[in-house]
Order: sequence, then C-alpha cells, then structure tokens
Amino acid sequence: MNKKLIMYYAFFCTLTLIIIIIFLINIKRWEQEKQITEKIEKEIEEVKKYDKENKVSRTIRLKISNTGEVQTIDMDEYLKGVLPSEMPPSYEMEALKAQAVVARTYAYEKMSTNTHEGFDICDNFACCQAYYNKEKISEIWTGRGFDKKTRDKYWEKINEAVDSTNNIAVVYSGKFIKAYFHANSGGKTESASEIWGKQKISYLEPVESRGEEEHSYYKSNESFTAKEIENKINSKSEVKCRVSNDGKDEIEILSHTVSGRVKKVRVGENIYEATFIRAILGLKSTNFSIEKKDNKIIFNVTGYGHGVGMSQTGANYYAKEGYIYDQIIKHYYKGVDVVKVEQKED
Ligand SMILES: [Zn+2]
Repeated sequence: MNKKLIMYYAFFCTLTLIIIIIFLINIKRWEQEKQITEKIEKEIEEVKKYDKENKVSRTIRLKISNTGEVQTIDMDEYLKGVLPSEMPPSYEMEALKAQAVVARTYAYEKMSTNTHEGFDICDNFACCQAYYNKEKISEIWTGRGFDKKTRDKYWEKINEAVDSTNNIAVVYSGKFIKAYFHANSGGKTESASEIWGKQKISYLEPVESRGEEEHSYYKSNESFTAKEIENKINSKSEVKCRVSNDGKDEIEILSHTVSGRVKKVRVGENIYEATFIRAILGLKSTNFSIEKKDNKIIFNVTGYGHGVGMSQTGANYYAKEGYIYDQIIKHYYKGVDVVKVEQKED
C-alpha cells in the first residue's frame, strides 16, 4: 500500500469520525431543546391549571341572615355546615365529596369577586348557598326521625367528604369556576346563558345527566285556573295581564331553550320569561308542559332547580356507577381542572 493511499484512508476516517461526533452533539442538543420545550409547555399548562393568585384564605366571613351577624369561620368548618344543608347525607360518598369541592369552589369564587360588601358569603340558599351550624343540622335530622346512631354516622360522612378533599377546588383557565348546582336536572342540564341571559360560559353548557328519574323530585305537577295565574302575575309584574274566565286558550308555551326547557310563555296578550312564571307559580323547574283539563291549567314539571351546573341526583347516580368525585365534576363542568390550591399565611 502506498503512502498516498494510507493518507487518503486516514483523512477519510478522520472526516467520518468528525461527522459522527457533530451528529451526536447535535442529537444531544436537539434532545435538550426538546426537553426544554416540553418543560416550558408543561409549565404553561400548570399555570393555566393553577393561577398562583388562587391562594386562598383559611377563613371565610359568613353572614347569618337571621341575626345579621358576620362570623369569621374556618373554611372547612363552613363547608361542614353547607354540605348537609345542600345535599342529603344519605348520598354516596363520592357524590358528597363532589358537592364539598363544588361548595368550596363556589365560596372561593364569591371571595375572589367580592359580590357582598363587608362579608364573603351569606347563608341564604337563594342568594349564595345554604348553611346551618352543627346544632341546627342535628335538630333538622332529629326532626326527620334519624336516631343518634344514624346522626353520628352522617356526621362522619360529612367530615370525611370535606376533610378528604381539603383545599381541592375547580378552576377553568386558572380561575375558580362559578360552581352552580341544582337538585335534579330532569335528564339534561341547562346553559347558564339561557337562565341568566348573559354570555355563554363554556363550562356551564348542557350535558346529559343520567339516573335522574330515580328521584322523587323528578316529576311534579301544579294546577291553577287562568284567573289564579292572572292574579299571581299581576301581584308581581309591572306588565299586567288579563285573561277571560275560562282562559283556556290564553296560556301557551312559545319557545324552548337549547336544553328543551321552556323559555317564553304567553299569558293573555303578554309574553313572560318562563323563569318568572316558574317563580310566581312555585314550579320546581322551567322544564314543563301545559295541559288543560276542565277549568284548570296543569303544569307537568320534570326536574327540580334551575338546571345549571352539577345535578345532585345525577352526581349520586354516577357515584353509584363507580365514578370518583373529580370524574363527576368533570362530567358536569366541561373542560375544567380539579386542583389543590394553596392557603395564604393568615
Ligand atoms: Zn349571598
């Protein structure tokens, strides 16, 4: 072999080696870059899931409607008063946990938006969420015929549902959600925009809710004469109506919401929101049909409550089906994250 050829080989081998080294260095760099990109993406995702501003207070300022007094109490103690005031303690543990997380989120959202002045939340279910202290709940349970053993068992369940979900709340794009809930949706939940007439909230849009028919609130009916309806409307509305005595043709459903609930009702010559008709007639929901029989107008109602957000009977059904609490929450509030929030040092 001549010298020139050896030189060629040596040169060729060195060149190949250099190319391999450059290639390997680059692969390592690409890998590092990929890892960094993934890390940044993950961090953005984490921030989206949990905004650091969500740091929460350990206590809540609660206004007691009866006395007007504002009490500052521990958040979990507050929730242990809300849970049995809002959901039957006989419900499945995962349904109770879902309700505890929803009630906690509802409270944090109220605190972050300052809807009340001088306090965070009130005990009136029509305004915020219901709350009774332990003594009052014990009294209510005794009134329902629960013996001491049952009452103790229920208290244990309430404690477990709240303690085991300590600091867990529901967020959407890093903010606490408006965690609305109701007793029984009648099979499908309602869009918040249909009830409160504001912009759509993506996590408060209709979803299917199974197992509702098992509940005693599922079907109900109320009947009135046309004149009774006229009187009730005129006692509450500026827009006065008049109907003839038999009034049979003077009440009619005009339109429905996206979930199939009633939206507008004609009474006489006026048109009213179904939510108003529901309130003045004391109907369990706006999911109704009208039947005319003899002199009466019968409202056949399905479900109980406004229908927005989590259905409590639905939650209980899904819990029986083996869902855990965050699966129940994510079923009713689409696209949300269930996260652990940090408490402030206060
Ligand atoms: Zn309130």
